[in-house]
Amino acid sequence: MSKKILVWFRNDLRLHDNEMLVEAIAKSDSILPVYFFDPRYFINTSFETAKTGKIRARFLLESILSLRKAFQEKGGDILLIQGKPEDHFSELVERFEIAEVYHHREVSPEETAVSASVEDVLWKQRINLKHFIGHTLYNKEDLPFPIKDIPDVFAQFKKKTERDAIVKACFEVPEQIAFVENAVWGEVPGLADLGFEEELSAACYSTGGEDQALMHLTELLATGSFIYNKPVKNTPDKEGFSSRLSAWLAFGCLSPRKVYWQVKEAEALHGSHPNFNQVLLGLLWRDYYRFMFKKHGLKFFQESDFEELIQAPVAADDELTLQWKAASTGHLLVDRYMQQLNETGFITFPARLLVATFLVHVFKIHWTKGAAYFEEKLIDYSPASNWGNWASVAGVGLDLKSKNTFDLEKQMKILDVAITAVV
Ligand SMILES: Cc1cc2nc3c(=O)[nH]c(=O)nc-3n(C[C@H](O)[C@H](O)[C@H](O)COP(=O)(O)OP(=O)(O)OC[C@H]3O[C@@H](n4cnc5c(N)ncnc54)[C@H](O)[C@@H]3O)c2cc1C
Repeated sequence: MSKKILVWFRNDLRLHDNEMLVEAIAKSDSILPVYFFDPRYFINTSFETAKTGKIRARFLLESILSLRKAFQEKGGDILLIQGKPEDHFSELVERFEIAEVYHHREVSPEETAVSASVEDVLWKQRINLKHFIGHTLYNKEDLPFPIKDIPDVFAQFKKKTERDAIVKACFEVPEQIAFVENAVWGEVPGLADLGFEEELSAACYSTGGEDQALMHLTELLATGSFIYNKPVKNTPDKEGFSSRLSAWLAFGCLSPRKVYWQVKEAEALHGSHPNFNQVLLGLLWRDYYRFMFKKHGLKFFQESDFEELIQAPVAADDELTLQWKAASTGHLLVDRYMQQLNETGFITFPARLLVATFLVHVFKIHWTKGAAYFEEKLIDYSPASNWGNWASVAGVGLDLKSKNTFDLEKQMKILDVAITAVV
């Protein structure tokens, strides 16, 4: 009997540098790519926010369409299912005579809980769920320390990793793929099918998908905008350089290794530049928060009641939180950035620091409310990066000593200067 492997796509919506896909093709006679539109990602949270806002939902749909097109060009398709993965695996395994299931390991508690439920279902059918690592720049086995010994202080993590760890080469896009025979692959849902009103203003935003991600990366490096734009300084009134790669990285339309190696190529061509360093440093911060989640889970947040805080329903938003969300605090710069966030789903790092500092340290609102709002609005929402950065702003993360981490005094000064300057 021919061996069929089900390849379960989640936040890894690409063909390039995809070890899971490459291995599935190598170890099987045919593969069945599957994506689930899990209703749990489209519910309302206990913070009275949506788990996924409309802008990110649209980016997801575009990314799935792009992945489907890529598979169709290889003579196959991806099976699209609306529902919880654990409710469908048993039937899929039987119907397609699947021998093994491959997926990428996630780090946030909600996502690992889904993997655990699927593993339980598959175990009953004696089917193995194989885990891959494909979200980080560094694979955990390439780090100079086991996960349990990863330094909690970012500066130490950076120093040792840059000195002793290697960034692997990217996996090539598979040339040929043999697909499991199937007649009905399922439609890409519309926003309305996911519970959104169909209209969405065409405000400036990135288009989802691997093809768009690779185009953006190539253009960014080829046009020399790295060289001619000033690097980001923590001065929120000047936008500074921002690669805007984050949404594609969050959905896995782009691999961090791909970014790393293309930046290295550009560096070899143009020489070193602070903007190259900024992107590579950003990728390290991204890895750091993911590894911290992996190492500590919710204990990363140094708040004894953190679990209750996120699980128990919270009281309705107070007036100040409502003002912050609606971009009507009266502070022009904060409002400008919040409006930009609401309209486009994206603001730069200095802008995020500014509005987060304002909510937590000026309005004295609990940081989890801000983090939940960002979870809804950000086009590039990623659990470890979002909750990790918010915890740093609130001073409840684990890295409170590093010089590179959040500096309240400096942020308050910037906020003061910025507010005085624009009022
Ligand atoms: C309160 C707050 C919440 C945030 N929430 C998110 C989030 O949900 N998702 C997210 O990707 N980033 C988040 N960030 C980090 C950062 O603001 C964005 O990654 C960055 O603004 C994206 O723009 P860029 O692609 O132009 O970044 P660049 O400066 O060009 O950096 C390149 C890449 O590195 C990564 N990166 C850069 N800075 C950070 C950082 N501090 N932490 C983690 N990764 C980083 C991103 O993937 C980014 O695309 C948050 C920051 C703050 C202060």
